Amino acid sequence: MQNAYKIAVFEGDGIGPEITAPTVEILRALSERAAYDFDFIPCAAGAAHYAQFGESLPEASMTQAQSADAILLSAMGLPSVRYRDGTEISPQIELRKKLDLFAGVRPVRIFPGLNTPLKLTPDQEVDFVLIRESTEGLFHTQGCGEVTQDEARETLLITRETSEKLFRFAFDLTKSRKASGRGKGRLTCVDKANVFRAFAFFRALFDAEAAKHGDVQADHAYVDATALWFVLKPWEFDVLVTENMFGDILSDLGAGLMGGLGVAPSADMGLDHAVFQPCHGSAPDIAGRGVANPMAMILSAAMMLVWLGERHDCAGLKRDGSQLQAAVEAVIGAGHHLTADMGGVASTAEAARAVLDSVLKQ
Ligand code: ATP
Ligand code: MG
Repeated sequence: MQNAYKIAVFEGDGIGPEITAPTVEILRALSERAAYDFDFIPCAAGAAHYAQFGESLPEASMTQAQSADAILLSAMGLPSVRYRDGTEISPQIELRKKLDLFAGVRPVRIFPGLNTPLKLTPDQEVDFVLIRESTEGLFHTQGCGEVTQDEARETLLITRETSEKLFRFAFDLTKSRKASGRGKGRLTCVDKANVFRAFAFFRALFDAEAAKHGDVQADHAYVDATALWFVLKPWEFDVLVTENMFGDILSDLGAGLMGGLGVAPSADMGLDHAVFQPCHGSAPDIAGRGVANPMAMILSAAMMLVWLGERHDCAGLKRDGSQLQAAVEAVIGAGHHLTADMGGVASTAEAARAVLDSVLKQ
């Protein structure tokens, strides 16, 4: 009897279905040659669904997500469709809240061969992970800030409970990265403890957790200095952990360093659930033309395999996750099957096919 993992798949809006189909095809092909299996459950949600049926995240989809082993999500939202109050359709935020996905994980990796804004020498390898607290911080009063004629206020909330969970998660991730041979065993807490008492509290909680992990080099950096170091010496980072708003801003800077949204994966993780999705949105400007870059979605799926593998102690999943990532890197490095945003002429299907061929050869 094979291990079958249930994957809730939200193909979403815009380019979503175009990048989801080839990604699922790759996962199927991997599972066919391995001792594990996938049961893919298509889940309706998003702006197009809202426009047609009046709900953006149906109860049935939420239930599927809750009972799945992992959730794979492309992108949701369309500029032309809004909730009645004028805000954007974003079931991702609802999923994050309901499933308590407190850690946003954004790997920042500069792929050899891809045009990026930084000039790097071959020994300057940029490969780090940013962890963004995703449920409180400066987003705590999101949409409910106090605004009068003369002033506006929002609250920055840092709680012991969430911060301790976040830091435990961050130390574990730092260690497993090191164990896999990719990390330096360094964890940097990014804050503004010199100005805000809330961040001094955040830092003190970090230090208390750090005391339990003598095998990790734990240090701090102010967020402004971190932005500078992202550009000047990004190869020195390993894992960074920070508050919600700082993480929001730094993760876009990280995607910029990588050379674009089309190659930036992410995951929103909690203790019991995780959603894997590319950093980019639904890209309605190029939807339906078959030219979207599938790499960010495929890399998110690779993260999902590694996460599932670690959770279920399945060596095959972990191996396939790293091989899938290596295959994306190989295709980007070879430069023959790049989509337009990476400077090539390949279609979504051609780029994804090249990754599949490469991973099956390994
Ligand atoms: P959201 O608010 O949902 O994050 P956004 O406004 O940030 O969306 P995106 O949908 O991410 O915007 O698109 C920003 C730009 O990047 C667009 O020009 C889009 O075509 C391009 N883009 C995004 N994803 C991809 C992709 N996978 N392949 C190619 N181009 C992409
Ligand atoms: Mg965006």
